[in-house]
Amino acid sequence: MRQLLENLRARGFLRSERVYRAMERVPRELFVPEGLRAHAYEDRPLPIGYGQTISAPHMVAIMTEALDPPECGLALEVGAGSGYQAAVLAELVDRGGRGCGHVVSFEIVPQLAEYALGNLKRSGHSGSVSIVAGDGGSGSGAGREVFDRILVTAAAPRIPDPLLAELKRGGRLVIPLGSPEIQVLTIVEKTAEGKIFKIEDTPCIFVPMRGVYGFQALDN
Ligand code: SAH
Repeated sequence: MRQLLENLRARGFLRSERVYRAMERVPRELFVPEGLRAHAYEDRPLPIGYGQTISAPHMVAIMTEALDPPECGLALEVGAGSGYQAAVLAELVDRGGRGCGHVVSFEIVPQLAEYALGNLKRSGHSGSVSIVAGDGGSGSGAGREVFDRILVTAAAPRIPDPLLAELKRGGRLVIPLGSPEIQVLTIVEKTAEGKIFKIEDTPCIFVPMRGVYGFQALDN
């Protein structure tokens, strides 16, 4: 793990000490299928079943640095997958599991929602993360500006309106926007006045988002 993190730092993906420490505290091997444990500290995505993947560590570093989740903040993730990214976010918003911050993470494949929850229990992060089985593109259901940070870890054609509606003023949303084949990781900021600004960051490739705000309807 040390070698991987030093490599991510040298390549400029890990820029802050706090994100480095957060990734250091989450054993990625607990979030990959058993037969792939030997590859857990290689910088590449790995299959987790149901046609989905755990993101490559450099992508987790880029997304987490871009999101910059505040201590004691409330974060929403769309696409829990293995639960790994949610655990890294939990380390930042709820350091030491003291209960001051929380992560809510949606997963549309029910079996993966179970998988993520099991992994988070084993890694000791289940107290700071709530896994919800369902379509996170439609928001958490709060319908109000409640989240300090929102991270979408599946590719979307556009920013889902319900997510913008649930982002606090002064908050930030990170989402891969583009086609199902290629996207640009986009940082979206909502000002104190409620205005939206977009900054296009890194080219990336994510699995396509499903559900109402995804590329295709759920039934295919
Ligand atoms: N963040 C994950 C990797 C995400 S892969 C990790 O750390 O392992 C993208 C995940 O998004 C997949 O598991 C996929 O099933 C899920 N997904 C796709 N569309 C979704 C939606 N509308 N709502 C919730 N989850 C979704």
